[in-house]
Amino acid sequence: MPELPEVETIRRGLKIALEGRRIACVEVRRRDLRIPVPDDFESKIEGRVVESLTRRGKYLLVNLDDGRVVIVHLGMSGRMIIEPASLRSNVEGLHEHVVFELEDGARIRFSDPRRFGLMALTDRDSIDTHPFFLDMGPEPLSEAFDGASLHAAIRTKRTPIKSALLDQHVVAGLGNIYVCEALYRAGISPRRLAVNVSRPRIDRLVEAIREVLLEAIEAGGSTLKDYTRADGELGYFQHRFAVYDRAGEPCPECDCSVGVAHIVQSNRSTYFCAKRQR
Ligand SMILES: [Zn+2]
Repeated sequence: MPELPEVETIRRGLKIALEGRRIACVEVRRRDLRIPVPDDFESKIEGRVVESLTRRGKYLLVNLDDGRVVIVHLGMSGRMIIEPASLRSNVEGLHEHVVFELEDGARIRFSDPRRFGLMALTDRDSIDTHPFFLDMGPEPLSEAFDGASLHAAIRTKRTPIKSALLDQHVVAGLGNIYVCEALYRAGISPRRLAVNVSRPRIDRLVEAIREVLLEAIEAGGSTLKDYTRADGELGYFQHRFAVYDRAGEPCPECDCSVGVAHIVQSNRSTYFCAKRQR
């Protein structure tokens, strides 16, 4: 499942391909994504110019010149393939459900084998009250997310800090991988109750969240360069994690003999160091 850094990397790639361009044609091959693609989707988008590409949590927002916004979520397996006019192929991928064709002949193809992704339309004026975003917490890379706001959001929560951070009301877009990585970096046990994390440690946690996300986005940026020469596929990138999916491996930041531990919390895998994280 793409996490925030992947979505941000895709946003940056799409921005280069889409911003300032007119969408000539939209083809919806399958409407039954996670929510059905609206019937007027094509007619409302064709002919419009893309003003900007933004992101809220793990949703991409394609802002059009008439004030409408295309909301895109990649779900579990969604990918965006940028196909310059000069490299267009006539081979249609089996799972390419939506294709946007730009005025210059370039195409953006949305592929999603599992169809947990979605495309929806709304107005920019009402984006903050849209059901997807109404109760969403602050962006982790924005100034609105700091020690004070995180403390206010979790100080009464008697759930493990890991679960609290996965709650999209607390902070937007954080997923399992980066929560594990941030707790490791901050030295906080994933099992500690949110209510029991002291204020100085919450400040450190905020910093750790920002760091792990920014490092991953930076790593994604370096893979982004490849997109322009290869097949233009935007989706996932390899990134080395300190603890995630590394059960039993040596702990990179301390000399503990046990190494990275694996437990399951709320049906999700947690990776951590029992010595370093308290
Ligand atoms: Zn360790």
